[in-house]
Amino acid sequence: MAGAFWCIVEDDRQGMPKKVMAEVIGEATRLGAGPVEAVWLTDKASDAGLKQLAGLGATKIWLLEDAAYAPYRGEVWTGAVAELAVKESPKGILGPVTSRQREFLPRLAARLDVGLAADCVALALDGGTLVATRPVYAGKLLARVSWTKGPWVATLRPNVFRPADAQDGRTPTVERPALAAPAAQMKLVERREEASTGLPELAEAEIVVSGGRGMKGPENYTILEDMARVIGAAVGASRAAVDAGWRPHRHQIGQTGRTISPKLYMGFGVSGAIQHLAGMRTSKVIVAVNKDPEAPIFKIADYGIVADLFEVVPQLTTELKKLMEK
Ligand SMILES: Cc1cc2nc3c(=O)[nH]c(=O)nc-3n(C[C@H](O)[C@H](O)[C@H](O)COP(=O)(O)OP(=O)(O)OC[C@H]3O[C@@H](n4cnc5c(N)ncnc54)[C@H](O)[C@@H]3O)c2cc1C
Repeated sequence: MAGAFWCIVEDDRQGMPKKVMAEVIGEATRLGAGPVEAVWLTDKASDAGLKQLAGLGATKIWLLEDAAYAPYRGEVWTGAVAELAVKESPKGILGPVTSRQREFLPRLAARLDVGLAADCVALALDGGTLVATRPVYAGKLLARVSWTKGPWVATLRPNVFRPADAQDGRTPTVERPALAAPAAQMKLVERREEASTGLPELAEAEIVVSGGRGMKGPENYTILEDMARVIGAAVGASRAAVDAGWRPHRHQIGQTGRTISPKLYMGFGVSGAIQHLAGMRTSKVIVAVNKDPEAPIFKIADYGIVADLFEVVPQLTTELKKLMEK
């Protein structure tokens, strides 16, 4: 519908929207600047997924269902959503900060010849125009930005915006738009294998335990994984650990890695370089364990332990286990 706020669906590739969609739809609803609609590009949507989107408050779901939409290809998604946007004139287009939407929404904004506000931590309306707040200079400053013309395209940082309260029983209104048949020009993914650790995904986790160069080697991350399993946390890493090949890049937290904002961040053997802080400084509670009392991470930590992590982690895991069993 013209004047609507579109929320681009990030799904788990099994036919269900990801948890972060509650935040995107919740924020679009809170703005109250127009009908809130979901746009879902997938090769296979599930009924449960459609119901979930409706339950979160999407008054309409634009369902673009075609084998060409999965796996994600930037040029295919951009062509389809740009065509739909030109026909339907949405007021805003929002998506969560995830690997693919970080790539897709700038492409879409460029195609529509409008601006993009990336990694927003707040949105507000000022005289009927959207104003976005986003961190700049590795999180040292917050900039308020606006658009000279719409649609307003923005990505929202996960775990910052209040999620929509899900309501059962809403019937989804699904529209399958007639668009030009998607034609993939590039073949990027031959085969996809997901190695499951059984731990939550870094960007979605409410608790993150992160290990830096102080972990001394890849084999020692097992002690962090043991702790993570006890408290349902994701395991992250500093760039030093990733550059050393100890952890995959998708686990990197910071300016050139993931931006996270969990309820609890615990850093072990992480010095707290500005580029690392850029990716986690908005965590609600920060705990740091470092044997150097001068480590910069202590400046932003809510709780700090000056000690050898190899002594602290096993003790902490034992105590957390006891707490969780209560
Ligand atoms: C353009 C650019 C982009 C960057 N992007 C990122 C990014 O996205 N993410 C990122 O993390 N970094 C990034 N960096 C790198 C960043 O500047 C730091 O080099 C990096 O964060 C350091 O990682 P670290 O804290 O693990 O290692 P170090 O700085 O070497 O710190 C290791 C810490 O472990 C402590 N330690 C050692 N042994 C123990 C022990 N047994 N018990 C307890 N503590 C111990 C030490 O006291 C030290 O404080 C970037 C740099 C640049 C220039």
